[in-house]
Amino acid sequence: MTDERATGHATFEGLGLRPELLQALTTLGYEEPTPIQQEAIPPLAEGRDLLGQAATGTGKTAAFSLPVLQRMTAHRTERPPVALVLVPTRELAVQVSEALHRYGRDLGARVLPVYGGAPIVRQLRSLESGVDVVVATPGRALDLLNRGALHLGEIATVVLDEADEMLDMGFAEDLEAILDETPEQRQTVLFSATMPRRLDALARRHLADPVRITIARETAQPGEAPRIRQTAYVVPRSAKPAALGRILDVEAPTAAIVFCRTREEVDSLTETLNGRGYRAEALHGGMSQEQRDRVMGRLRGGTADLLVATDVAARGLDIEQLTHVVNYDVPSAPESYVHRIGRVGRAGREGVAITLAEPREHRMLKTIERVAGAPITVEKVPTVADLRARRLDLTRGALRESLLTDDLDRFRVVVETLTDEFDLVEVALAAVKLAHEAAGPVDDDEEIPQVSFRPERDGGRAPAGRGGDRRPPARARSAGGAATRLFVGVGRDAGIRPGDLVGAITGETGLTGRDVGSIEIHQRFALVEVPESAADEVVQALRATMIKGRKAQIRRDRA
Ligand code: AMP
Repeated sequence: MTDERATGHATFEGLGLRPELLQALTTLGYEEPTPIQQEAIPPLAEGRDLLGQAATGTGKTAAFSLPVLQRMTAHRTERPPVALVLVPTRELAVQVSEALHRYGRDLGARVLPVYGGAPIVRQLRSLESGVDVVVATPGRALDLLNRGALHLGEIATVVLDEADEMLDMGFAEDLEAILDETPEQRQTVLFSATMPRRLDALARRHLADPVRITIARETAQPGEAPRIRQTAYVVPRSAKPAALGRILDVEAPTAAIVFCRTREEVDSLTETLNGRGYRAEALHGGMSQEQRDRVMGRLRGGTADLLVATDVAARGLDIEQLTHVVNYDVPSAPESYVHRIGRVGRAGREGVAITLAEPREHRMLKTIERVAGAPITVEKVPTVADLRARRLDLTRGALRESLLTDDLDRFRVVVETLTDEFDLVEVALAAVKLAHEAAGPVDDDEEIPQVSFRPERDGGRAPAGRGGDRRPPARARSAGGAATRLFVGVGRDAGIRPGDLVGAITGETGLTGRDVGSIEIHQRFALVEVPESAADEVVQALRATMIKGRKAQIRRDRA
């Protein structure tokens, strides 16, 4: 085992970040910059424009947030913001604001998320009292600008995050209008998962001599990837601990390593897994060599079965008996994935790589799949029933092994006395029950939400109804059937009302009005819930038709 920190891996200190930010990153448990952070932070901190192709999960939020904070005066009191981050959705606005707030705490950074749907009065009041960074959806930003509440004259940096999504949602003109209100000499940063031509045009108009960065390049050599069973599960962040517990119960690994992004995650997950009856050990960069050796010894000796670690801590580890590698998050770079899973599947033994992906991380997973050169199968998180069946299997296996190998004679007297009173099968049932309960962890009956990303591409499609052209009954609003939100690229601007959407859906598909769930009409788009089992059908039908005389873009809304 070697400590490779001495051998030239990038550090946040090495990127020249100010002490307040380094402190925040240490507190958050970030051990080293991700590839995109390594490449983007230095030029951004110098004030260069940047065009970055990177998906969610690469660490791009910190890649643009840290330089913004680096360049900002600490504890500002002036009112107009110095940075504006534009994002496509309300969710992302909240997420990015939280990140900026966490990183910028010691600098006293005042961060304000603004998005449609939230009371504008509060946003007006916050702007009035002064902010440093505004994180906004384009529609609301423009609204505030037109009301004279948002002053962009002091803006030093504009970030367009997930720019392709913003264009897809019809925000192109809004973006132009907003950019026109910012000082010409501002820094402009554009991140996007894809680079469609329209985006290139926007970049050419608004970015000056940008640094270009593409993350997730295909650097691994084809054929390099080991033969390993690769599985991914789509799990919302909040359900991850429970889902991982369930997956591990079903997989029953001999020895596994679980990779987390931060030290905090390592510690809390270790605790959760121990609570579930695993013998999990934490390993992170903050531990001394001696502590690490002790942990490794317990894993090798079989007194621990799970190692929970960060990439940095696991560097150079070679554990022979390892059967499973678990990515608690989608790794921030494909190379890191390939490197991690290379630890299993050696010497002809079966290796399993498991990745927990959040619904928004499908792009990164696709890239990883390409680089790893082997399919990653998206599977459903085991249900309570799956788990029970699997646990019975394990108990049966254990009993069988005992019958084949153990000397059971000394228990004969117990069975024989009991059969005076009970039937032999009943005695066996009670014994199995005790063995089963002794082997397994506490019963787990928590419902883990079944979510998916783009089932049409990832193979998680629900089976079709048996009756040929008869659609299985499903209700978007009923408790049992899962509902899916669809994005419809026309909104209030086109005079769309809920009835128009219900009409289009019921007119073009076999659904009835009751099948259609909640409908939100926004300025330029609408969101409508339909039963998951009929979502593909509705998408196809609406794509082929007009809504209020217009062709509209139709797709599944991102979770
Ligand atoms: P993003 O790609 O910006 O959505 O970030 C993905 C996740 O990675 C977020 O949960 C971040 O908190 C986390 N993250 C970003 N940079 C690092 C890092 N250098 N070390 C550990 N975690 C990170």
